[in-house]
Formats: sequence, structure tokens, C-alpha cells
Amino acid sequence: LSDRLVETFKNLRTKGRLSASDVDGTVREIRRALLDADVALQVVKDFTAKVRERALSDEVNKALNPAQQVVQIVNEELVEILGGTQRKLQFAKVAPTVIMLAGLQGSGKTTFAGKLAKKLQGEGHTPILVAADLQRPNAVNQLQVVAEQAGAAIYAPEPGNGVGDPVKVSKAGVEFARQKQHDVVIIDTAGRLGVDEELMKQASKIRKATDPDEVLFVIDSMIGQDAVNTAKAFQDGVDFTGVVLSKLDGDARGGAALSVASVTGRPIIFASNGETLDALEDFHPDRMASRILDLGDILTLIEQAQSAFDEEEARKVAEKLAKEAFTLEDFLEQMQQLKKMGSMKKMLGMLPGMGGQMKQQLENFDESEIGRTEAIIRGMTPAERNNTKILNGSRRARIARGSGVSVTEVNQLVNRFEQAAKMMKKVARGENAGIPGMGAM
Ligand code: GDP
Ligand code: MG
Repeated sequence: LSDRLVETFKNLRTKGRLSASDVDGTVREIRRALLDADVALQVVKDFTAKVRERALSDEVNKALNPAQQVVQIVNEELVEILGGTQRKLQFAKVAPTVIMLAGLQGSGKTTFAGKLAKKLQGEGHTPILVAADLQRPNAVNQLQVVAEQAGAAIYAPEPGNGVGDPVKVSKAGVEFARQKQHDVVIIDTAGRLGVDEELMKQASKIRKATDPDEVLFVIDSMIGQDAVNTAKAFQDGVDFTGVVLSKLDGDARGGAALSVASVTGRPIIFASNGETLDALEDFHPDRMASRILDLGDILTLIEQAQSAFDEEEARKVAEKLAKEAFTLEDFLEQMQQLKKMGSMKKMLGMLPGMGGQMKQQLENFDESEIGRTEAIIRGMTPAERNNTKILNGSRRARIARGSGVSVTEVNQLVNRFEQAAKMMKKVARGENAGIPGMGAM
């Protein structure tokens, strides 16, 4: 998806104005790209029709830079379908808040239950997990493990009692929570491998019996074209108040997100992106839009870069990045520039190709550390800044003393810098030439 779109937008960018045929060509490409990302056909059709209409409007033709506007339109429409602004979890006025999970088997419900419990726990809530998946022998055990990891309480039927009734267990679980003053109840339900009448009935009964404040539909974002049918089936069978996209750490481009949001009109609330319980994020429509385009907000980046960077300097940096001659000295200089540009994280997040692991690294990058980072680099001699390889133990200890941080922090910075230099080199050599674009545009 990304390559094709980047190519398309690159073509647009070289022209000053848009003709109808330009727009049609672009729209065709967007359509293909979205289908490649497994967005459902009907959703793609509606989407491209809207984009085309807006792109051909006067507003665009009179604009200074039509290409930028088309990018913006595509982005805006994506964000719109994905729910506009971010929606928060709804809590009950009178505790406990009941949150019921629904979704196919393997979609990530139990894992998400643990993630949510952990998150809520961290926010000062006292969640309890209710084991209402009595379908698979191991499901209760799995929830027990997850609850323990999350440090949350659990309500489960006595083991060895044969098959219990998930509706009764759910109801009793909510009652138990009320008595023990747990302020949030998370009901983990059973799923089947496919959409199934029995399953829907059961989920629907649990819903009626517990009157949840939120019913969250958990869907595997790698599900592809099935997203629409599955989501519709759950909407008709149980209905849900919000969506959790799971396994976003995989290769999924987010086509499922667009399809589900568009077809059900329900907001996506969380993005689950890993097997560990920390791997949970609030869902941000704008970020997902960029992910679907996997374009990063290239034009914005370029604009900001141009206002902050002197072109000549940007070109020099780009060359250095590509040659791996990028040093801590440059890093320090860049940091001054980046401050002008807004946050570093934001800038890096706008580069294309920043998926998966790279994104994770970015998330770990704390902006507030920039100040300390600066102090550490300033504590180094020019020779050290130009070649981190000479930083032996005693030099590191000296730097730590001089800049008032621990040796560990110095080590961390050096490691991170070396990783970043490697990463930037990759980006700089990448198809879209990443940062070099800043000088070349
Ligand atoms: P359930 O049947 O809906 O309860 O699904 P589970 O929570 O048991 O998850 C099914 C499998 O997907 C498990 O192996 C999980 O470890 C894995 N899983 C769940 N969520 C995620 C996620 O966000 N990312 C990744 N990579 N794996 C996940
Ligand atoms: Mg489960």
C-alpha cells in the first residue's frame, strides 16, 4: 500500500495544479491501495467517491498547492470515518461499571481483558475479571493467569464442576463485584471460530443479564475482508458500544479498522498491539489514518522542516545520515532544530515506514529527556561526540559526573543514539529517501 500511494502523491507533488484527470488517476490509485489494505469494497467505493468530489471542488483548484490539499482530503475523510475524535471508555454513574467483551475465538478478548484490567488498575480502579468463557476447558485458567499478571481480582466458577452457565456466572460476577466494591467488572466471554447462532444467543443473554455500560467488540485486525461480515453479525446479534482492534502489531494495515468503523458506525476505543499486557493504546483516528495511508504526514513534515531547517543544512544532514557519518555532534545540533519543529517524537512519527518495531522504539523515546540528553552530550569532548566508539568505561564515568547523571543513563543514551543512527540510515536510504526529502523538496 505505502509504496504505491507515496508514488502517487509524489507524482501529484510535481505538478502545480490538478486537472480532472489528475484527480481521477489519484482516486483510482487510492481505491486500489485501500482494496490492497483489505478495506471492504463498499467502504472503498463510498470513500473514493467522497474524495473525488471534494478534490474536484473549487476550493482545491484555487488553492496554492492542490496536491497538498488532496493529501489532506484523503486524510480528513479517513479520520472522519474512523470516528473523528478519540472516544474514551464510559464509566457508570454508580459503580460498578460493567464492561462485556465479545468477539470470535482467538480475536484477543482474554488478552485484552488482562490489558484493560492492568490499565485500569494503574489508573486507580479496582477491576475484577469475570470468567464467562466456559466453552473451552482452559479458558478459565488462561484468565486466571492473565488476572494474576495484571494484579487484578477474578471471579470464576469452582474448577471441576463440569460446565457452568456463563449467563449465571456473569450475573453472579457482577453481584460479587458490587459486594466487594470492585468499581469495574470486565466480563470475558466465549467465542467461536466463526459467526455462530448459539454464540450470539449466549452473548446476547449475558448482555441482557448484566446490563453492561460498555459492550466491546474485539476484532483481530488481520481478519481482512471478513471484518465487515463479522462486525455486522455481532452488531445484529449482540450489538456493541465500541470496538477494540487487536493484533495491530502485526502486518495489518488497518483495513479492518476502516471497514468496521464505516459499516457499524461504532467508535474504535482501543488498539491492542502485542502479547504482553502493556501493549494497549487508546485508539487515535488520526494515527490510524496515517497508518492506513502509511504515508506519514509527509507533506506536513516537509513544510515544518522547511521552516525550521535551512535547506543546505538539511541536505548535509541527509548526506551524513545516508553515509552513517552522523555523529552525536550532529544529533545535538539537530535537537536544537527539532525543538523549533515541535516534538521529536512527532517528527519521527511522521516519517513513512515507521511501523512495528520502529514505532515501538519511538514510543519509548521520552521528549522530556531531551534536556538530560543535551546535558550528557555537552559533557563529552568533541572527539567523543564524533566517535562514540572511543567511549570506554572511564570516559563514560567522567561524562556522567560532569553532567550529573548516572553512568547507566550515559550508556542508555549512547545505545539509543547508535540505534537511532542505524535506523535513520535505513530511512534515509529508503525508497522515499525520508529525511533527504526535506532538502530536496
Ligand atoms: P480470545 O479467544 O478472544 O480470548 O483470544 P486470546 O486473548 O486468547 O488471544 C488469542 C491469541 O492471540 C493468543 O495467543 C494471544 O497471545 C494473541 N494475542 C491477543 N492479542 C494480541 C495482540 O494484540 N498482539 C499479538 N501479537 N497477539 C495477540
Ligand atoms: Mg478467551
